[in-house]
Amino acid sequence: MTVPAAVRDRVEELRREIRRHDRLYYVLAQPEISDLEYDRLFAELRELEERYPELVTPDSPTQRVGGEPLDELRQVRHEVPMLSLENTYNREELREWYARVGRALGHPPEGLVAELKVDGVSISLLYEGGRLVRAVTRGNGLVGDDVTANARTIRALPLVLEGAPELLEVRGEVYMPRSVFAAINRERRREGEPEFANPRNATAGSIRLLDPAEAARRRLSVWCYQVARCRGAELGRHSEGLELLAALGFPVNPGWQRCPDLEAVWPVLDRWETERARLDFEIDGVVVKVDRLDEQRALGATARAVRWAVAFKYPPEGRKTKVVDIVVQVGRTGVLTPVAELEPVRIAGSTVSRATLHNFDELERLDVRVGDTVWVTKGGEVIPKVVAVDLSERPPDAEPFAIPERCPACGTPVVRDPGEVAVRCPNPQCPAVVAARLRHFVSRGGMEIEGLGGKLLDQLLREGMISDPASLWELDPERLASLPGWGELSAAKLARELEEARERPLHRLLFALGIPHVGERAARLLAQRFRTMDRLMGATEEELEAVDGIGPVIARSVTEWFADPANRRIVERLAAHGVRMEEPDAGVRERPLEGLSFVLTGSLSRPRPEVRARLEELGARVSSSVSRRTSYVVAGDDPGSKLEKARSLGVPVLTEEELEALVRDKGVELWSR
Ligand code: AMP
Ligand code: ZN
Repeated sequence: MTVPAAVRDRVEELRREIRRHDRLYYVLAQPEISDLEYDRLFAELRELEERYPELVTPDSPTQRVGGEPLDELRQVRHEVPMLSLENTYNREELREWYARVGRALGHPPEGLVAELKVDGVSISLLYEGGRLVRAVTRGNGLVGDDVTANARTIRALPLVLEGAPELLEVRGEVYMPRSVFAAINRERRREGEPEFANPRNATAGSIRLLDPAEAARRRLSVWCYQVARCRGAELGRHSEGLELLAALGFPVNPGWQRCPDLEAVWPVLDRWETERARLDFEIDGVVVKVDRLDEQRALGATARAVRWAVAFKYPPEGRKTKVVDIVVQVGRTGVLTPVAELEPVRIAGSTVSRATLHNFDELERLDVRVGDTVWVTKGGEVIPKVVAVDLSERPPDAEPFAIPERCPACGTPVVRDPGEVAVRCPNPQCPAVVAARLRHFVSRGGMEIEGLGGKLLDQLLREGMISDPASLWELDPERLASLPGWGELSAAKLARELEEARERPLHRLLFALGIPHVGERAARLLAQRFRTMDRLMGATEEELEAVDGIGPVIARSVTEWFADPANRRIVERLAAHGVRMEEPDAGVRERPLEGLSFVLTGSLSRPRPEVRARLEELGARVSSSVSRRTSYVVAGDDPGSKLEKARSLGVPVLTEEELEALVRDKGVELWSR
């Protein structure tokens, strides 16, 4: 079939338009069109490509996530080695560097550039004929991993350049935005999966994933900071390279600045030291570079680092306090988590006395010891964390913390799966695991039995009155009423709550049961597809995998869980106690907000990208500008001009609570906790 010229032209035009809007949205954060209009362009392109498959090119915007998962990453040698930077920690050291540069050149350098030192993972991006042909991690500096397929999923990164030099190698720092990091960790916590220790860690793991579709879900971004090679354009200065990158549409390291001399660098250091907390990505310092490329060449490099640039490192973010103890907690999947107990310290309006150390790898990397003085942050996450140790204040007798060989709760020898960071207690009857499972079962997203908050649940466990979810409905009311702190009234109240909880829809029960990898999203999908527990239990792995959104890992986990007779017995007992085993039809549609469009303004209780993602998950469209077609504007604190626009157009405005109520009316919860 020949493709009409008009179609060819339209396809090209659509691609150009989409690329332009991608850049406006992801790089400049200044969208010109609503998401709805963007989606229309995208849909039109996709339709034309489906009708005329010969028009599909690998760098069409529709092809960002392409190809099958890889078996392994290919190793690639860097044409220009990716070297480290020398670090300086105070102004004196920076002055020394500057003096050294001046001595080597025979005169002070003719201009510097100061730019943010983004704390991510460095990457080299090769463009030939204006097309991204390869992306490689730093690796050991000489040889890195080919991560092209994953880099292509980074929406901020152009796949095609217009008017580009024939060959261009760009260096940049891939990072995970703080807001994305917080959302992903929250999700992992709910799924009972180990959380990432920090955005850099999460980025390093994500960029090296073998499955580009999975990598796309990590929503990585990138800041480019250098032209490493260029054929077909004349560059005399590093700063001209940055300008070229910006003109070509790259996301260029923001806040870079020309400084005629070192004096001009000081205010830059001051500025970012205070402003860095407000950025949606982590920086650990400022990089100062000699601007002229001929001076750079004259200065050269050592085996490890270039001589023409230096990093000025900030002290870690957060507040300092002392580690009083390090304890080990056991979670519902048996994973052991080290936690630092701290001398209480005020951070961002609340008192913090414990902070997570994530896992033993992270504990080892930080080398936190009892008695150490550490920096603690709260960042965008819920649980505060230890980010660094101040070695200058370490007591001489502080001992490294040893990974426990036995579970602190039950004494069973711990296991560590090869290739995994998690250390776990393998004993399914471990009291800590049992308690954590029950806490999950009664939690808000689960069966939501509020009368069994923390201490009371522990009390019933201690008394041996409960042991698994079904045992909650087997409590003896008289014995309950006679427990210290209980009475007939509170026992009756709990009984009422338990009765109510029996009516929860299947998806809540599925989530509450804590089947590995079955978080809220998967629980909903499974409940909607299979409707009853019986049908779900009878489903094969293939049938499970056939559900949109359910992958092989979840499918296997579900069949394995139901294959265990102990689990089946719990389900049977729950059913015998009248716990509902089906998903009600009424009102709960898969995408209850389908057809509605929202605009968010002001600060909401969660980061906006997260609210947006959730609304989209529920089927809504979320756009950035208000029009007559907008269904609702959701306004948080300090709303912007969008609120006025909404009022002038007569678009209804909701508070966050009203939004929650609206969603609840459709039969689902906006947030489960
Ligand atoms: P280090 O890993 O401490 O030796 O620091 C060198 C690394 O800093 C480089 O490999 C880059 O990944 C990273 N980096 C982040 N931002 C910049 C920047 N603006 N210029 C140069 N390197 C940067
Ligand atoms: Zn144990």
